[in-house]
Amino acid sequence: YGEHMRLSDMDADQRAALLAEQEREHQELCGRGLSLNLTRGKPSSEQLDLSNALLELPGSVDLPAGPDVRNYGGLDGLREIREIFGELFMIDPDLLVASDNASLSLMHDCVTYASLHGIAGQQPWSNQQVKFVCPVPGYDRHFAITEHLGIEMIPIPLTDDGVNVEELAALLADEQVKGMWVVPMYGNPSGTVWSREVVEKILALPAAPDFRIFWDNAYGLHHLTDEPAEMLPILDMAAAAGNPDRVFAFASTSKITFAGAGVSFFGSSKTNLDWYRGHTQFRTIGPDKINHWRHAAFFGDAEGVRAHMRKHREQLAPKFALVDEVLSERLGGYGVAEWTKPRGGYFVALRVPNGTASRVVALAKEAGIALTPAGAAHPLRHDPDDAVIRIAPSFPPMDELRPAMEGVATCVLLAAAEQL
Ligand code: PLP
Repeated sequence: YGEHMRLSDMDADQRAALLAEQEREHQELCGRGLSLNLTRGKPSSEQLDLSNALLELPGSVDLPAGPDVRNYGGLDGLREIREIFGELFMIDPDLLVASDNASLSLMHDCVTYASLHGIAGQQPWSNQQVKFVCPVPGYDRHFAITEHLGIEMIPIPLTDDGVNVEELAALLADEQVKGMWVVPMYGNPSGTVWSREVVEKILALPAAPDFRIFWDNAYGLHHLTDEPAEMLPILDMAAAAGNPDRVFAFASTSKITFAGAGVSFFGSSKTNLDWYRGHTQFRTIGPDKINHWRHAAFFGDAEGVRAHMRKHREQLAPKFALVDEVLSERLGGYGVAEWTKPRGGYFVALRVPNGTASRVVALAKEAGIALTPAGAAHPLRHDPDDAVIRIAPSFPPMDELRPAMEGVATCVLLAAAEQL
């Protein structure tokens, strides 16, 4: 662990020396002609290779029983794939729809349908100034959907186990609050896991009848340790809390098989699914069931998915360990940075001194290291503290990840020293 003196304990000479040293290091970094990228949470090529057998499927695998997957129809998707993922996500397959290649499209559809047609017999959202609660730091593309559709976003800070329930309750007292984005397991980028206790309370809070929790469990199966976070049976919990229609649950195999060419899922109460089908039937005659069939044949059963995820973990865990190792060595003790040590998912959130995140990203860019723009994890790209940087270590190979993280550490230290 880095044994450095706290920056705030240094005298003026020590600070000046540190600044000069980091400037030299940064210049040296810029001279190396690096071209490294830590921006998007994409699987690496090696991870994608784990699913190459899919490219040969369905091959001569027997057609599944039931309606012909080669033909139109079957709005809910193939039963077999819904059963496998229903077990994994603890959702009754009858309440789980399998759809096309992107869960983000399903989220966009739901917000759009609610905007155009309303939900639960309420006014269309587009007739009013609707608001969404946005736990921060969060997923930029969630915030982009609500921004694009004219929905006001209210940030609320993430805690260690979700959000502060009283604070949320006060926000939900406003009838114009119609939604909340939640990444319940291994949040993007915070790694946050929402606890059962917090979720139980949230499900029971008074709220508008058309308030929906957009429960995006994109990383629910993406464990990095032997102590996986608990998968919550979210629809059962919502029903038990007396609000069976409160949750729209989403997931996909984008980071299980092929990103952008997997299967997406939408789980909700029967009432909500009927609402969803009532609109989706005009959008499509049915999803790509051949892709469902291919995926079902590839995995076989839920255990097949778990085994596959263990292979991802073998590749990903060393990358997360490396990020932690480099940051600890380079920044430990200075008191200028904190970072998450996620138990799953795809991201590390790096917190730097207030007012320096955009400077760090700019310094890294000068050195050929692409970082997600500062502010991206906040609604309207505005991080009021300018302090959060999202690190996505999955895509680069290990031999690029190390120099990239060392470079980031230099930029963090330089920006902090400059500020003082
Ligand atoms: N949800 C979260 C939280 C994500 O981080 C991502 C991708 O980064 C997605 C959804 C995208 O999922 P899909 O490929 O199914 O649209």
